[in-house]
Amino acid sequence: MCIRRLFQSSRLQWAWRAAFLQHIQCRHQGAPRWTHSGGGTYRAVIFDMGGVLIPSPGRVAAEWEVQNQIPSGTILKALISGGEKGPWMTFMRGEITTEDFLQAFGRLCSEISETRVPVDSFFSLLTSEQVAKQFPVMTEAITQIRAKGLRTAVLSNNFYLPNGKSFLPLDRKQFDVVVESCLEGICKPDPRIYKLCLERLGLQPSESIFLDDLGPNIKAAASLGICTIKVNDPETAVRELETLLGFTLRMVIPNTRPVRKTMEIPKDSLKKYLRDLLGTQTTGPMELLQFDHGQSNPTYYIRLADRQLVLRKKPPGTLLPSAHAVEREFRIMRALANAGVPVPKVLDLCEDSRVIGTPFYLMEYCPGLVYKDPSLPGLEPSERRAIYTAMNRVLCQIHSVDLKAAGLEDYGKHGDYIPRQVQTWIKQYRASETSSIPAMERLIEWLPLHLPKQQKTTVVHGDFRLDNLLFHPEKTEVLAVLDWELSTLGDPLADVAFSCLAHYLPSSFPMLRGLSDCDLTQLGIPTAEEYFRMYCLHAGIPPVENWNFYVAFSFFRLAAILQGVYKRSLTGQASSANAEQSGKLTEFMSNLAWDFAVKEGFRIFKEMPATKPVTRSYHTWAGPQSPRSTPGTRSYVPFTESSPAHASRAALVISPEGLSPPVRELYQRLKQFMEQHVYPAEPELRSHQASAERWAPSPLVEDLKEKAKAEGLWNLFLPLETDPEKKYGAGLTNVEYAHLCELMGMSLYAPEIFNCSAPDTGNMELLVRYGTEEQKAHWLIPLLEGKARSCFAMTEPQVASSDATNIESSIREEDGFYVINGHKWWISGVLDPRCQLCVFMGKTDAHAARHRQQSVLLVPMDTPGIKVIRPLTVYGLDDAPGGHGEVLFEQVRVPKENVVLGPGRGFEIAQGRLGPGRIHHCMRLIGYSERALALMKARVQSRVAFGKPLVEQGTLRADIAQSRVEIEQARLLVLKAAHVMDVAGNKAAAFDIAMIKMVAPSVACRVIDRAIQAFGAAGLSSDYPLAQFFAWARALRFADGPDEVHRAAVAKMELKHCI
Ligand SMILES: Cc1cc2nc3c(=O)[nH]c(=O)nc-3n(C[C@H](O)[C@H](O)[C@H](O)COP(=O)(O)OP(=O)(O)OC[C@H]3O[C@@H](n4cnc5c(N)ncnc54)[C@H](O)[C@@H]3O)c2cc1C
Repeated sequence: MCIRRLFQSSRLQWAWRAAFLQHIQCRHQGAPRWTHSGGGTYRAVIFDMGGVLIPSPGRVAAEWEVQNQIPSGTILKALISGGEKGPWMTFMRGEITTEDFLQAFGRLCSEISETRVPVDSFFSLLTSEQVAKQFPVMTEAITQIRAKGLRTAVLSNNFYLPNGKSFLPLDRKQFDVVVESCLEGICKPDPRIYKLCLERLGLQPSESIFLDDLGPNIKAAASLGICTIKVNDPETAVRELETLLGFTLRMVIPNTRPVRKTMEIPKDSLKKYLRDLLGTQTTGPMELLQFDHGQSNPTYYIRLADRQLVLRKKPPGTLLPSAHAVEREFRIMRALANAGVPVPKVLDLCEDSRVIGTPFYLMEYCPGLVYKDPSLPGLEPSERRAIYTAMNRVLCQIHSVDLKAAGLEDYGKHGDYIPRQVQTWIKQYRASETSSIPAMERLIEWLPLHLPKQQKTTVVHGDFRLDNLLFHPEKTEVLAVLDWELSTLGDPLADVAFSCLAHYLPSSFPMLRGLSDCDLTQLGIPTAEEYFRMYCLHAGIPPVENWNFYVAFSFFRLAAILQGVYKRSLTGQASSANAEQSGKLTEFMSNLAWDFAVKEGFRIFKEMPATKPVTRSYHTWAGPQSPRSTPGTRSYVPFTESSPAHASRAALVISPEGLSPPVRELYQRLKQFMEQHVYPAEPELRSHQASAERWAPSPLVEDLKEKAKAEGLWNLFLPLETDPEKKYGAGLTNVEYAHLCELMGMSLYAPEIFNCSAPDTGNMELLVRYGTEEQKAHWLIPLLEGKARSCFAMTEPQVASSDATNIESSIREEDGFYVINGHKWWISGVLDPRCQLCVFMGKTDAHAARHRQQSVLLVPMDTPGIKVIRPLTVYGLDDAPGGHGEVLFEQVRVPKENVVLGPGRGFEIAQGRLGPGRIHHCMRLIGYSERALALMKARVQSRVAFGKPLVEQGTLRADIAQSRVEIEQARLLVLKAAHVMDVAGNKAAAFDIAMIKMVAPSVACRVIDRAIQAFGAAGLSSDYPLAQFFAWARALRFADGPDEVHRAAVAKMELKHCI
């Protein structure tokens, strides 16, 4: 059912929208002139009232005479009797009162008909609300005329009512000028009254068109040079007027078409039914159109006299018992209307299939605006915000309906909505599966394990989005919520998440326009998070923690729907071109769903029993000088061969021996490569770094990179959660990588050799997670291949950059480009000649909310305006060839497509970028420490002072012991942080991440410092890696965020837990 709904590019919609938008356009552009095909220019249309805008007195009289058995034509004769001086004309010039008129007119009628004529009754009918009602076709025409910027006037021969007011049963606001004969004392066809009207319009006769039903009035106007239309029936007159003006005056009912042959319904039978239902006023021809959408339940537009209705019926043929339940739609809409929820007014449910072949229901056609584009073009930011707020409020209203009072307690099952939905959509997906989609498989496993506890059972709409709402044309008020086909009782948060889907889709998304690449702050549209918080506030509930589950589920559901459409397109059941496209989109949707699953984390593992106590193995080897792994009691956590990733998720693997066989094998190969190629290359690499050629990449590094790549020891860093299909990397969990990364940390040169070095790793992860396909093709691939390098530019000399919200560099929009101006420093890697990409962070909107000001841009390094002022040094080390540069960005222009995720998303990206990537430094620091300790142990055993090897000095033994303890502590914390990231998600691991960032650099500094001390002066030289280790460990107490910031974070979280 919902499947087809997805492809409804249109919804019930009223042409006020077009008129409204045109009106806005006109306001901006000034009133245009409209030229008819004959070459004249019209600027106004003047309407007579009786016989043109409302029924003519003559016609009303004819019906009245039949009903009252008065000889036919009596009234008409009396109306024209006496000409200018007759009672009717004097009455219309306002010269006599109603009472006098009725007396004189009654006498005249009686004389004509030779019977008593109750003219009071005729007069009452003529002026009654029932009769004196403007023809809808004229209302539409006037709206369209004004929307095009033309003026309108009513020029009426009218009279005074007994209450002393003039008879003008029209909305005066429709007209720029109103001329009433009884007020002016002049009647048509007196030329003076036409001139008066033209004067008030400020126009020449040739600039206006006049419509009247009476020949003499028309003649008089024409003799003045006014273009005229004689009105016999309003519909024909409007068509003539359209020809003269050259534009349509009929409000096209949007998204309708003539009824399809196969969908025809018996018109006579329907008309009779409507007449019985609505009464005698529904005479005249019936217009019947079919809405483009509603293939599930065919939907029709009906215009009968002045009634506009919508009919929704079941499709013909044999149906599944629960499908196409128009009765349910009727029931819910009626109940909700009674409960005060804005819905179209339902009139009748007809379950008798004899009337039109199937059951159907009728509702009023609701005039209003439907906003199909969620970015709400053409509106002011405050209007947009108000529209989203109104949407939010109406959703709360639906969810707060008292089920008992509304009689809806049995409208669906209570509780377990999400579990049932998950199973339903898994089944639907399986039934239409065409090939295995990895993200769908993961979701099918993940969703049932992360089901939220349903807090409340309410009415749920099931398809709540902006384009299912009908808004007031002038106010931000929801007039009606449409499309209740999927409504039931359920978990209200499912509706809230579903209504935010557009926020996560791009604006170019084929079937549901999205907002993900729009600057919401600038547009005034609340972000999904703000929208969700707004809902909680309106609903008076605390924000739920597992919001991401609901979004993941919503996208999963859409993916399953799309897969169904795709399958049907393959079997030829669906003809839509969209259907085929849906195949590709299924994958896109499922990946989006998985992104949210990842954000939500792997909560299930949090619930698992604690890791079994294990006997810790120890390993103290570190590079060539260290002893190979010390034999000892090695115990490790068991793993399941079939699902190694899960095994390592379920329990903390504290030593490499606990890794799954394939990862253990990888670990062994890496270790071997380090021993065979990396450690032996260190002296040569060190001398290159000290040489004049150091700003060029070392050929040896390039050579080793090729070797490592050939051995599959490449791009090991990308975590499984970011790259679940292992498209780009080795697909290791964070814990698995922690063991391997520690090994790479043993040599300062190793990370680059395995393409696992910062800042490229963070940038690559950023591109995998947030980059568009084009951005990935352009930047990610060369980085993954190790052909290019990159840098990340955030820190600025003039502001405290440990607080990223301080960043001041400006990013300004100009002619489809972003123009950057800023001053950055400590930009690692910027000096490397291979550096092709700068991931730049700056401010796109200084007035947005604090965390929405920053954006991330991909800036090619060869863009004019980038000037590296100088390389900075760390304790005198310049870290060539990448270096750490101070850089000026002056009028640097990059195309707008180079923004990542969208403007204002910089903060979000920086946090995501620095999730897993940030503890890589900690993992490496354990490696530095192990290597330092290994070097120290080797040194103190071979060096003799004061008659004995240094190792026999108690202070050194104490230092060694202290270092071992500190390393073990730090490693366990690193592994724990990685483990929590794996099993509970990065968000849940925030505390552990902050703790290890506090701990690891300081531990490394202390351990390395002790090793330096044991080495004597040699420790400070570049003959050993210790001095460099120390410098980088020390630098990481800033580069990885200052210690104090992590301490502050830990304290904040710790205190929060206490309260
Ligand atoms: C070797 C190296 C490489 C780097 N690479 C990059 C790079 O590639 N790209 C990039 O953009 N930046 C890089 N940086 C910069 C690094 O990210 C910043 O130095 C860091 O964010 C701190 O910012 P700041 O230097 O402006 O210090 P400030 O923000 O000025 O902070 C100074 C000091 O104030 C104190 N402080 C700050 N906040 C708090 C708090 N909440 N509580 C208590 N005290 C506090 C701390 O002692 C802190 O060290 C690198 C730095 C180094 C040393």
